Amino acid sequence: MERLFLSRFLFQTNEQKVYTMTTKTTTHEFQAETKKLLDIVIHSLYTERDVFIRELISNAADALEKFRHESLTATDIFDAHVPLEININLDEKNHTLTITDTGIGMTRHELEANLGTIAHSGSNTFLAELAEAAKKDVNLIGQFGVGFYAAFMAGNRVLVQSRSWEGSEGHEWASDGSGSFTITEMPGLHRGTRVIIELKEDAQDYATKWKVESIIKQYSAFVSFPIKLEGETVNTVQALWTRNKNEISDQEYTDFYKFVGSAHDEPMYRLHFAADAPLAINALLFVPKDNFEILGFGRVEPGVNLYCQRILIDQHSENILPDWLRFLNCVIDSEDLPLNISRQSLQDNALVGKLRRVITKRFLKFIDDEATKDPEAYLKFWKTFGIYLKEGVTSDYEFQKELGKLVRFESSKSEIGKPVGLADYLLRMSPDQGEIYYINGPTRAAIEAGPYIEMFRKKDIEIIYTMEPIDDFVLSHLGEFEGKKLVSADRADLAIPETEEEKKQSAEEGSDSLAAGLKESLLSWLKKTLEGSVQEVIESKRLVDSPAMIVNPDSYMTSTMQRVLAASRMEKGMGVESSKKNLEINLKNPLIIRLAELQETDAEFAADVAKQIYDNAMIQAGLVVDPLVMVERNYKILERAVRS
Ligand code: ADP
Ligand code: MG
Repeated sequence: MERLFLSRFLFQTNEQKVYTMTTKTTTHEFQAETKKLLDIVIHSLYTERDVFIRELISNAADALEKFRHESLTATDIFDAHVPLEININLDEKNHTLTITDTGIGMTRHELEANLGTIAHSGSNTFLAELAEAAKKDVNLIGQFGVGFYAAFMAGNRVLVQSRSWEGSEGHEWASDGSGSFTITEMPGLHRGTRVIIELKEDAQDYATKWKVESIIKQYSAFVSFPIKLEGETVNTVQALWTRNKNEISDQEYTDFYKFVGSAHDEPMYRLHFAADAPLAINALLFVPKDNFEILGFGRVEPGVNLYCQRILIDQHSENILPDWLRFLNCVIDSEDLPLNISRQSLQDNALVGKLRRVITKRFLKFIDDEATKDPEAYLKFWKTFGIYLKEGVTSDYEFQKELGKLVRFESSKSEIGKPVGLADYLLRMSPDQGEIYYINGPTRAAIEAGPYIEMFRKKDIEIIYTMEPIDDFVLSHLGEFEGKKLVSADRADLAIPETEEEKKQSAEEGSDSLAAGLKESLLSWLKKTLEGSVQEVIESKRLVDSPAMIVNPDSYMTSTMQRVLAASRMEKGMGVESSKKNLEINLKNPLIIRLAELQETDAEFAADVAKQIYDNAMIQAGLVVDPLVMVERNYKILERAVRS
């Protein structure tokens, strides 16, 4: 942060000399995106008008934080003596509202750059999303933080007078929000920024004290600098997170959450903890009610506010928590971090790594405890934020053990729509079962109608249903849970030992099955007929009713994973790489028994039947077949069926 500011400062003073020597007032066009934003702000956001005060106070507080941070190390500071505070003054007669801060201020160049463009990266997507949200629900607008331009929701004209902390002459920025703004030199200002809003006719109550005071209480109670309204301090400056848990009321927590999360509801969970070892930490974490990424708001910015000794070091910090916890809103304060740490050096700071580990583990443990205490509430969390935890499993090895406890899936023994955890599975499993089984399919009904769970049903073994394509990646990344391997039921080498009773039973049933000679010739004929499509054709030990199924000799990939990877290869124009499968056939199935005979009397027709069985099994595995070839063959078979 420091380095960044310094270079900007050098660059700007040079630039400014040119300006101040040559012009007094200059006129500038807003950037095209800014014009669009202003249009939305002015024409569709009037129902959420109050937020403009929050936005301007938050800018003032940011400017004060930046100044405080700079002043820790800088020696040459302009107006060093003025107190750090925000003053709000109202003029009911002239209909103006003025917000003044003694923060870092802006040079001429900064006024032009910061108040003429939109700082957001990808501002076009931002605009599209904003316009969309404005149509849907204006309450969601608060989440966007339209920033400084919100001033035009209430103002006909907005003036910004500012003088930078490095002492160069001050300037006034002025605009009516229509298309351009002017910048004029303005000598004699103090350090900081004053925003004067000339209120629109229908917004004149923003010059009344009770109105402004109630808005400040609602949105800005936790700003860490005094806010003075007409000379009277209206907020109590306090770092809630450093106070003792027992002395904080639920209401205070909720108010604070609304402040840090720009939220208007209550959080789903909150975790407040202090630790001394291995690091001194005060942390306050909130899980919001909604997942804004799912609601179509694009990727959310990480919600970590990093403090050191109550001084804000980094907002929306990307370095503190893992990326997959970006949905949390939190304050993390650690006295052990050096106060003057720069944003770049946060990235590879060993202390920061430690901080991440401690807080992440603590949060995951907390969530796990909550899941035990109130499983219903946890399921709500899982439905809303489970996708982030899945992202965590597949992208971050560090916390897999903890994340394994938190994943939830439906299973053959769960109620519909009520996913269960792996720990529940272990509790139900018989002591001689060595592995945890799962199978992917598009829906519960499709899985239960398919061949893969037949044997599990027969033996009364629980099997997990993974119904999202990503789930197989999740379970394969996890690898195991509490020492039990996670195994996909479409693996070729799946071996579930037979019970004594089953052995006896199959010895008795043996007579219905094909004679040994016939069996060998059928298997080798099938392999030849399906050459190019299958690697092996084998007698199934696990099919109960279905004639055949596809299994994977490659034990690390399920059919679903292959399908997903193939689709992504196609998308990238890399062509499909077909990995060969094994076909397991059920020698007790009447269709297969008849096929063995048919193969000797009418090899051509038998070949069509064999290929159709293979295609059907591929479809049941969720894999792709050539639909044209399949349908043509199917008609051929049907035609023969109606003839006989
Ligand atoms: P954001 O606060 O998200 O960056 P804003 O639109 O609110 O976006 O403000 C744009 C930029 O203008 C800020 O990033 C900051 O650089 C500058 N700015 C706005 N208000 C002030 C202020 N009171 N003091 C100093 N700089 C300010
Ligand atoms: Mg802002």
